[in-house]
Amino acid sequence: DDEANAMRKQLRIRVQGADGSCPAPLQTFDELEKRFKCGGRLLERMREAKFLEPTPIQRQAVPILCGKNELLAIAPTGSGKTLAFLLPIIMKLKAHKEGGARALLLAPTKELASQSARILRLLSRGVSGLKSCLLSKATAGNDFSKVDVVVATPMRLKILLQDDKINLSKVLYLVLDEADKLFEMGFVEQIDAVVAACDNKKITRALFSATLPEKVEELARSVMPRPIRLTVGERNS
Ligand code: ADP
Ligand code: MG
Repeated sequence: DDEANAMRKQLRIRVQGADGSCPAPLQTFDELEKRFKCGGRLLERMREAKFLEPTPIQRQAVPILCGKNELLAIAPTGSGKTLAFLLPIIMKLKAHKEGGARALLLAPTKELASQSARILRLLSRGVSGLKSCLLSKATAGNDFSKVDVVVATPMRLKILLQDDKINLSKVLYLVLDEADKLFEMGFVEQIDAVVAACDNKKITRALFSATLPEKVEELARSVMPRPIRLTVGERNS
């Protein structure tokens, strides 16, 4: 525990709201195998992609999300937030399963959504048969019951929900990425609709952001009642 705290202090990792039971930060990615039964193939994909050493946000967010915790994570742009939420999703979904998407990633723009979808495909290739889908005009008619992970912008997803073309009741992991941008771009209403549609009682939600202005904090509160709060580096807002 002292070791965990020393590491947090050195890396400027701050954790609040974990009731004194926050899992220790990762020393290495390899540790995921023993601690969370991460498969060797995923670790191989990570090495191939040159993700050799976890960044501070990854060190603390991954163990938190591998538990059943909800998370509000604040870390600067470029600090590696994408991998911090993708790794636990790949590890927890384990294998392909039909019946409806079990993970949903929301990003503010098509470009950001497609970047996350690309890394997800790269890391899950040959690992567990997980199927992911980046929502676009072209995928509107797809059968989403055959997809494990949906990556979407709020607008695109809301259209599908309105037309009853997608069912989110199997979603166990919901991630709002770049939450400050989601808010700035005025997507609060769409996010509310998505959060309401993700009505599985076992859902775990996470919100990632570079900054935490009061409005984003409010958004977080409306999405999750009592998340663990994780901050890395200076809070720049
Ligand atoms: P953020 O979402 O926090 O702005 P990203 O997830 O987009 O940051 O990551 C920023 C860059 O760092 C990307 O190019 C990504 O590939 C790279 N990166 C992330 N994690 C690692 C890692 N553990 N080792 C090496 N590079 C990494
Ligand atoms: Mg990002």
